Amino acid sequence: MGDEGGSDDDNAGDGDGTDGDAGAGICPGADRLLLDVMLGKLAVYLRMCGYDAAYAGDRGVEADDRLRELAAAEGRRLLTRDEALAARTDGAVLLTERDVVDQLAELREAGFELALEATPARCGRCNGAVEAVPPDASTPDYAPPPAETDCWRCPDCGQVFWKGSHWDRVAAALERSR
Ligand SMILES: [Zn+2]
Repeated sequence: MGDEGGSDDDNAGDGDGTDGDAGAGICPGADRLLLDVMLGKLAVYLRMCGYDAAYAGDRGVEADDRLRELAAAEGRRLLTRDEALAARTDGAVLLTERDVVDQLAELREAGFELALEATPARCGRCNGAVEAVPPDASTPDYAPPPAETDCWRCPDCGQVFWKGSHWDRVAAALERSR
């Protein structure tokens, strides 16, 4: 239902087409998202791709009607694994896969732009808008010195990020989802 039909595999994303030729493309600058409680891991990946991706689990929202209200109130597109909920929510994206790499592949097919950003924009932990840490600032013990490694800090939860092993793992998962 509701698919555009005839999409050949080799149509779908050759990686660097940033100026989207697909009219239905979904990208971090334009689309805000809300993920249901089943999709917490996917939320982290989407935030690392720059999406403003709210997670129902963080918001304490579980009931279908509350999810729909929240999505509408904040202008967010709902991503859900619940078929009935997706069917009655405008613009919702239904995910059928359980594994996060497979879910990323599903989103690509649905027209989502998925790539790590050169400059991180969102906190993977809480969805806050992160800020660069100045080179002369101090960082917590778990983080590298910002004079040597570019770091970002989330003003909402205080988490410090850098492009370390977690970043590499997410990059690898995005690659596998192609
Ligand atoms: Zn945060």
